[in-house]
Amino acid sequence: MEGWTRILKEGIDDPDEASKRFGLDPKLTRKVAERFPIRINSYFLSLIKSADDPIGKQVVPDPRELDEEGYEDPLNEEEDSPVPNLVHRYPDRVVLFVSHQCPIYCRFCTRRRKVGRPASFSPSDIGKGIEYIRSHREIRDVTLSGGDPLMLSDRKLEGIIRDLRAIPHVEIIRIGTRVPCALPQRVTGSLCSMLRKYHPIYMNIHFNHPDEITPESAKACEMLADAGIPLGSQTVLLRGVNDDPETMKLLMQKLLTIRVRPYYIFHMDLVKGTAHFRTSIRKGMEIMRAIQGFTSGLCLPHYVLDTPGGGGKVPIYPDYIISMGMGRVVLKNYEGRVYVYPDIVDEPVELKRCSSCCGG
Ligand SMILES: *Cc1c(COP(=O)(O)O)cnc(C)c1O
Repeated sequence: MEGWTRILKEGIDDPDEASKRFGLDPKLTRKVAERFPIRINSYFLSLIKSADDPIGKQVVPDPRELDEEGYEDPLNEEEDSPVPNLVHRYPDRVVLFVSHQCPIYCRFCTRRRKVGRPASFSPSDIGKGIEYIRSHREIRDVTLSGGDPLMLSDRKLEGIIRDLRAIPHVEIIRIGTRVPCALPQRVTGSLCSMLRKYHPIYMNIHFNHPDEITPESAKACEMLADAGIPLGSQTVLLRGVNDDPETMKLLMQKLLTIRVRPYYIFHMDLVKGTAHFRTSIRKGMEIMRAIQGFTSGLCLPHYVLDTPGGGGKVPIYPDYIISMGMGRVVLKNYEGRVYVYPDIVDEPVELKRCSSCCGG
């Protein structure tokens, strides 16, 4: 047995064990686990000091998950799936779900309708997905996701990547994963030497809190970066975990020290059973404002929300423009000081008589 499979096995997945360990109500915890399975591998477990610390909150089941508010599939991904387990929403790129498993089961998971449920995947889906990509020449970027692609064996993962690489119009292959953060022991020398054969491969890693950056996760990221894989981060803005400007800024700064470039901060999706993790959008903007200018631009991710109903990601930026027009822009800098900047007027402003309404 490889080291990482033992770490999974020795973790907590049984609701009664979780109840005993964290002092939870066994009956409610069993109910929660019926809705969405529990998985806290022994490495991630070792980072938890108490169930309500920022690491514990992410994986310890909570009776508030039984709350009915929200949607099963808030992003309407099923509607943009031309074949099962592939989402084609944007013009030139798709997401292909290749595994139902993750190294841990995050209690705020957006895909809890699929994740941890073997029945939501059939092995033939991947082949159908690859066939779809092959026959759609506009697809130049494929993100492997799930579940977590790095939960597959090296051999299975290589089979998928090799098939994708053989498609001439697929320029970029991306892997979305939580493994380097939550099960860094899975990042082995053989995984890295396999991946580096198929460049350009990019990886976006899900990190939510500075305490997730440990010697082990740093080592995993170093190995991947040394294999030539550009690493980005994806962070979910979570109440009580990282919804504080100083925590988020520290996370972004620390990610850079392990060669991970902040990419996205996601606003919490409207997933059923996760309302207790939600923050206001204003809070997210406040966090972005606390990062921009106060630390290096390399630390600055995009803050995005995925619109319910399948409209895709919308970036949200704090407003630095106070007003613009008539050849000048009034701006605010990161400290809130106001500046006037001369601007080019593109077209002469033509004052026309208004014929349709007021006649003025
Ligand atoms: C996020 C996402 C992508 C990738 O988007 P980028 O902004 O290019 O990172 C592609 N397809 C779907 C459905 C997505 O949700």
